[in-house]
Amino acid sequence: MSILFHIFHSETKVESQSLGAVDDFCPVCREVRRFENTNYYSMKRNRLLLLIPLSSEKVSSDYAVCACPDCGSRWESEGARGLGNRRGHRLQLEEKVKARTTSPEERSDLLLEPFLKMASMSRVHQFLGNRDPASRWGCYGTLGFLLVVPTLAVFLAPVNAGDSFIAAIATITGLSFAGGTIATLVAFATWRRRYVRRELESRIARSLKPLGPSKHELTAAVEEFRRIDPKLGRHFDGPRLHDRIRGVVR
Ligand SMILES: [Zn+2]
Repeated sequence: MSILFHIFHSETKVESQSLGAVDDFCPVCREVRRFENTNYYSMKRNRLLLLIPLSSEKVSSDYAVCACPDCGSRWESEGARGLGNRRGHRLQLEEKVKARTTSPEERSDLLLEPFLKMASMSRVHQFLGNRDPASRWGCYGTLGFLLVVPTLAVFLAPVNAGDSFIAAIATITGLSFAGGTIATLVAFATWRRRYVRRELESRIARSLKPLGPSKHELTAAVEEFRRIDPKLGRHFDGPRLHDRIRGVVR
């Protein structure tokens, strides 16, 4: 089987193609920005002897993503169709924000807007397989330690290594493995929460700061978002977001 694997090898990778740039309104920057649009898709490539290409086929549908060059946010693209009308409508609404003439319904929509964008950003993050660095380092670090400690022990061991030396190396290796495993499990269990705090919450705070929302308004927006996306919404908290907008929490 392994010989066949090396003769006929196939692999699936996410590939990308630039779709060009368009001017659109960024709700995080609250300005028109030149968004880079990229199409992502999975390609399966079959090779002979690992190098000679035999065939390739697209094995997923297109996934268009747009990225703001200023704030680094990226979310699922809504496409070019109707972009002019969408942008025009959004800029009119932004003028009403500056003039403080938005209706209660418009203000509710504006408060919810960055949450919906961040849900989209989270989906893009998962689609592109950008995993948590802490989980990755925890996993590789633990495995690396398991290799390095016994290897060093072989080289550093005294000529007549006694039972106490072997017991000490076994204890260090065992404790390191247990500690590394626990740290990795904690990193896996908390990656989404850390991602929300680091990447999403900071952008929502930046987006909503000009609106000067009250704690009550933010709590209502979070509750509304939790109804739409319970899995992601449970990591947000209205009062905490209020503190973050005021610069109390970073
Ligand atoms: Zn932006």
